[in-house]
Amino acid sequence: MTKTISVLGSTGSIGRQSLEVIAACGIQVAALTTNRNVELLEQQCRTFRPKLAVAFDPEAAGRLRISLKDTDIRVAEGMEGLLEAASLPEADTVLTAVVGMVGLRPTLAAIREGKRIALANKETLVCAGELVMAEADRFGAEIVPVDSEHSALFQCLQGNRDRGEVKRLILTASGGPFFGWTEERLRTVRRSDALKHPNWSMGAKITVDSATLMNKGLEFIEAMRLYKMPPEKISIVVHRESIIHSMVEYCDNAVLAQLGAPDMRLPIQYALTWPSRVPGPATPLDLLSCPSLTFAQPDLKTFRCLDLAMGAARTGETACAVLNGANEAAVGLFLEEKIGFCDIAQRVERALDRVHPRPAHDLETILEADREARRVAAE
Ligand code: MG
Repeated sequence: MTKTISVLGSTGSIGRQSLEVIAACGIQVAALTTNRNVELLEQQCRTFRPKLAVAFDPEAAGRLRISLKDTDIRVAEGMEGLLEAASLPEADTVLTAVVGMVGLRPTLAAIREGKRIALANKETLVCAGELVMAEADRFGAEIVPVDSEHSALFQCLQGNRDRGEVKRLILTASGGPFFGWTEERLRTVRRSDALKHPNWSMGAKITVDSATLMNKGLEFIEAMRLYKMPPEKISIVVHRESIIHSMVEYCDNAVLAQLGAPDMRLPIQYALTWPSRVPGPATPLDLLSCPSLTFAQPDLKTFRCLDLAMGAARTGETACAVLNGANEAAVGLFLEEKIGFCDIAQRVERALDRVHPRPAHDLETILEADREARRVAAE
C-alpha cells in the first residue's frame, strides 16, 4: 500500500478527488503539480505540505513562488519540474492525472525509478503502450489503473494466473450525452452541449471525448495494452447507468463484474491501496434504489470516433499515437468553437489516412507521429 505519493495534475478533477482519498487514507504527499491553477495549488500545498510544488506554466510558477514564500516548499516549473516530481525518492507511488501526451515523459521517468504508477493519464498508454509496458516490466514498476473501467477489469482479474483463461474483456460505456442521436442531429451540437455528461463530472477534454465516444476508443486501446489482450478479445457494451464499471468473461462462460456508484474516488483509492482494501470516502452502492441495469450495442456508424479507434487498435504501430494526437488537436479546435462536433471524427480520419503507421518502439518515432497527426488535423 502507498505510503508517500506525488500527484501530477492535482488541481484537475481526478487530482482533487485523489487528494480526498489521500487525506482519508493518511498517505503522505511528496509533490503536487498543476498546469497553471496556482491559487488552488497553493491551498493544496498548505494542507498537504509537499516537499515540491510544480506549475508547468513558467509565469504561473513565478506567482506560486511568491505565494509560497513563507513556507519551505520548493517551487519548480515546466517539463523539468514534472520530471522531478515524478522521480522524487520519497514517493513510492506517482499518480499521473495530467491531461494528454504531456504525461508521457514523467510517467516513463517514474517507471524508471521503479515506482508504482497510479495511471489516470490514458493518452500515455494509447500512444506509447508497448514502450511503457516494456519499461514497466524491465524496471519492475507496477502500473495500476485509475480509470474506472480499467480498475473494474483489474479487480475482476485478481486471482487470474493465466490470461489464456480469459475469453474477453467487456468494457462498459455510458453512451455519453448524445446516445441514440442521429448524425444529422449531432451536427447541431455546440461546445456547451458537449460539456454536459449524464453520470460523471470530469474535465473538458475527457467530457468531449465521452460525447464523441472517442473516450471509449482510447479505453479500448488502453485495455489492450494494460492486459496484453488482442483487440478481438475486447468488446464494448453501452450501459447507460454506469453501475457496472466493466466485466471479464472467462473461458467457462463465468462473467465477473465490478459494481459501484459512479464515484471516481473508489478506483483512485484501489490504485493506491491495492492489494489491500481499506474503508474510504467513496459513495456506497444502494442496490434497492439503483436504476434497472440496461445494455445496448454502441452505434459505430454515427459515433465514428469509436470505430476509428478500434481500427487504429487493429492497425497497431504508431496508428494509435496518430489517432490520439489528431483527436487532441481536433478537440482543442472544437473547444475554441473553430470546428463543429462531427468535424472531430473527420479530422481524426484524415490524419489516420495521411500519416502512415510505423513501428512504435522508441519515443522519438511516437512523438514524431503525434506531431505529424496534430499538424494534419489542424490544417
Ligand atoms: Mg473511464
